[in-house]
Amino acid sequence: MSDVRVLIVDDEKVIREGVERALAGRGYTITKAESGEEGIECIKQDGFDVVLLDLMMPGIDGFGVLEWIKEHEPQIQVIVVTGFATVSKAVTAMKHGAFDFVGKPFTPDYIRIVVERAVEKQALETEAEKLREEKSLSLAAIQQEKSRLNTVFACMVEAVIVTDPDAVVVHHNPAAIKLLEIQTDPVIGKPLEDSISDDNALAMVHEAIGRGTVVSREFQPGSVSRRFLRAHCAPVLSSAGDVMGSVTTFEDISTNKEIDRMKSDFVAMVAHELKSPLASIEQMIYALQVDCKYEAEFSCNKLHGRMTVRTKDLLRLIDNLLNLSKIESGTVVFNLEPVRGHQIIEEIVEVALPQAEAKNITINYTPSDVEWSFNVDYDHIRTAIGNIVSNAVKYTPDGGNVAINVAVSGGFVSLDFQDSGIGISSEDIPHIFDRFYRVKGKATRHISGSGLGLALVKEVVEAHQGYIEVDSEPGAGTTFTLSFPLVSGIEKQMI
Ligand code: ADP
Repeated sequence: MSDVRVLIVDDEKVIREGVERALAGRGYTITKAESGEEGIECIKQDGFDVVLLDLMMPGIDGFGVLEWIKEHEPQIQVIVVTGFATVSKAVTAMKHGAFDFVGKPFTPDYIRIVVERAVEKQALETEAEKLREEKSLSLAAIQQEKSRLNTVFACMVEAVIVTDPDAVVVHHNPAAIKLLEIQTDPVIGKPLEDSISDDNALAMVHEAIGRGTVVSREFQPGSVSRRFLRAHCAPVLSSAGDVMGSVTTFEDISTNKEIDRMKSDFVAMVAHELKSPLASIEQMIYALQVDCKYEAEFSCNKLHGRMTVRTKDLLRLIDNLLNLSKIESGTVVFNLEPVRGHQIIEEIVEVALPQAEAKNITINYTPSDVEWSFNVDYDHIRTAIGNIVSNAVKYTPDGGNVAINVAVSGGFVSLDFQDSGIGISSEDIPHIFDRFYRVKGKATRHISGSGLGLALVKEVVEAHQGYIEVDSEPGAGTTFTLSFPLVSGIEKQMI
């Protein structure tokens, strides 16, 4: 070993030089110190592997130096060099941590052998210390990795259950308990059957373990739960390809299922809503082609009127669908401009008249005695208010009436749409502005609709800083009140 540093501490020059000669040619770096004090200074400055130490020295003697070394540089191997008369002192020194001793006079060979052994011991101890450090470092790394994995596992939204090859649970995360509504405690160490009762889920795990391949299933946990879970079970394979267990992940797909169901309902509803007016328009066109020249003009007008109503129904549905989807995707732009209120309501009433006349319903519009304007997007507001008026006519039996009253005050205009129709029960009122919500009952069974009209009305009214109220009594009628801020400064008496 070439980089071994040896310090000789002895007050006798002849011993210092004798030891140095004995160790010459071994490749050691040798330093000599004449006293205990000098020896300690040398160690402080350079650090050594082996110290050959005289016990009997003036000042700090060998015991003092040994004590200092054991306290400050315990890795140094100390060889005590002492006269045979003081061997007992050498033994005491060894009890205090010296590696060995050499009696004076000594042979060079003996010195070499003892130093060599000390160097070997020092090297072994250094190596052992290195291994200890490496081991504690890797243990710390393993511990850190373990806690990292545990954190990931515990924070996962998906449920995870790990089993052995006999489908006995060996690990699970907190999400598993919640998502699978597991009541068993503890879960670990028990067959999966104790925690999960769904046959599909259990069959999936057994199949994955049995076949050694990934198996996926969808199922509903528990008998009352309306939630849907999707699970993937993967076998854990050894390097030899043997199945050592399984890892199953479960995710809640109830929302996706609900969206799928809504999509199907929506397609069915749109198909129905488009088909039935188109079918009756087709019939009426046919009737007009065949019969018109024979029928009285009155009858032809009636058919034209009905066709107009049905066409307007279709256009309203398509408008509602397009506008709602634009509002939902955030791509709608409201082009606000001052609009004369009286003019827009007259237009809406005119559009609703054929539908009302077909049912013998009278629409009484009482304009305000002041002219008023509001800051709105003309097309969107016309569609929204049109929906309210169209509903009033649609949900009022033949021969009924619809009254539209306008009140202007306090910087707001209040529009009342009162019908003598079927009314809405207090349980249904909180839901009628939800998308696709339609009141189900005897009175509404034969009235077609999409459940989108009022959802659009609410979106549009609120986008114009307005608000909407409903007052209704089943069997007696309904009043929708829409309020909007007025464009200030242009209220004036109607002439
Ligand atoms: P729909 O296309 O079904 O008419 P809406 O969103 O316009 O959809 O209305 C939602 C539900 O509110 C309707 O299905 C109906 O039951 C009820 N409704 C709306 N307006 C009236 C009204 N004036 N009189 C009675 N019920 C109404």
